[in-house]
Parts: sequence; structure tokens; C-alpha cells
Amino acid sequence: MSVRPEEIHSHGGFRLERLPNGWLVGRFAVLDAMGLPHLVTTRQGPDVQELRRDPGVAGPEIARCLGLEDAAFLEQVHGGDVLACKQGGCVGHADGLVTAKKGLAVLGKSGDCPIVLIADRRGRAVGFAHASWKATVAGIVPATVRNMVDLGCRPVDLVACICPSAGPCCYEVGEEVRQAALDGIGSHAEAFFRSRDARAFGRRHFDLWQANADALIRAGLTRESVHISGVCTLCRNDLFPSHRKEGGAAGRFAGVIGLPTPAVLAEDEIPDVEQRSGHL
Ligand SMILES: [Zn+2]
Repeated sequence: MSVRPEEIHSHGGFRLERLPNGWLVGRFAVLDAMGLPHLVTTRQGPDVQELRRDPGVAGPEIARCLGLEDAAFLEQVHGGDVLACKQGGCVGHADGLVTAKKGLAVLGKSGDCPIVLIADRRGRAVGFAHASWKATVAGIVPATVRNMVDLGCRPVDLVACICPSAGPCCYEVGEEVRQAALDGIGSHAEAFFRSRDARAFGRRHFDLWQANADALIRAGLTRESVHISGVCTLCRNDLFPSHRKEGGAAGRFAGVIGLPTPAVLAEDEIPDVEQRSGHL
């Protein structure tokens, strides 16, 4: 019998803010406290699906909004591969992206999938993992942590924040997903599946938040350094595009983080906060 992993309950101080340019964005207080430029876009902001058609517009615009120079992103393919980058634009096919370059944002796209933002307390690197169920099963989180270790980070110095995404309340999957998770992650993955309805005949809800939180801790992060925004994109489809709710026409929102250049740390570079809400 596998022991049920202890659940993570910290929201990391996730809340919404209105930026001076009118965008409504999500931010984590724990990343703010580290002086790290980051945000999660909403429907009231750019549709990063546009990056596929015109990579030159939304990426640099989001980077500038954070006081950074450019943004790097991926053609996300739901696998376990991670790339390191030193320049902006689309840098390849993978689901994890890390950088040690100051002033360069890494940008993950989501239409329900958890984007896991990862930062080093000592400022050596930042990264994200696009932790769809397939990428989660393929080990995208430990692979991203390993790539940050290659850039000089120690896992105990890393802080991770799981952005809004399909929550355990709504993320129903079939038996084939559960079996793939047990095969890929191990028998302890059983704990991340819950049957909400005895008549559902094998349909279960997959808790991708706790699955990825557990993967982060197994990769060496401390429990205190793992945070889950706790916002479900299906429940809050008013705020976030959801592929499950809207199908192929759904847009994409972004989880973005970068290492600041020294100028970004100046007080007057920090965006004004016009609106703040408690936890959603
Ligand atoms: Zn939900």
C-alpha cells in the first residue's frame, strides 16, 4: 500500500491585480517577495494563442510589461522534455523551459493545463513546466528541476507556484489516464484520483495540482516552497480560457516569470496596484 502524500494547501498569496495598461493579471505574493517579475494573464489581457501566428507581438509586450527585455516560449507538445534558453521567441518543441539570463522572461501557455512557475531564491535561474496530464506522467516537473540544477540551482533553494488550471473539482478523466499515471509516476499516484460518483464507471477526477506538488517535493523542494493558486479554469471560465469548456476555439493564457535586470528592482518600476482581491 502506498501512503497518501500529504496535501499542499498554500496559495502562495495568489491574487488578481489590475496593471496600469488595463490587463487583469494574477500574481503570487511569494514570488513578489523574492523580487521576481512574473504574472498570469487572464481574459482581460493578451490571448497568447496569437504567439503561434505572430511570435513577435505578445511575447515582447508581456516582457516589457514586466520590465524585461524579451520573452521565450515553446511549441508545447505534452511530453517530458525541457530546454534551456538565452534568447526570446519560440525556442523549440518541449514542455519545460529554463533560463539563467537576466531580463529574459520564460512564458508558458495554458488553456486548462497547470503551468508551474519555478524560481531560485538565490536568483540563479527561473523556469516553467507545462504540466498537462501527459507531461506530468512523462515527468516534466522533475525534468525541469534537473535543468535548473544544471544552471547552478539547488532544489532546496527553489520555490514553485502552480498557476490557475483545471482543478480536482472539474478535471474528470478516464481509466486510461489513471493507468498511464500509475505506470509513469508510480503506485502513489493512486492518491491523486478520486471518484466523485459511484455510478461513474471508472471516470475519476485527477488532481493535477497535488500530483505536481508531490512531484516537486520528490524532486527536492521543501514543502514550504510549493504553492498552488487553487483557481480552477473551468470554474472560473469567466477569467481564464478553458479548452475543456470551449473546445478548439479556446484561447490561451500565460504563466510568465523572469530574472530581473538590476533596473527592474527600482521602486518606480514596480507596477501600481489598482485592484486587489482576496483569494478567488
Ligand atoms: Zn473546477
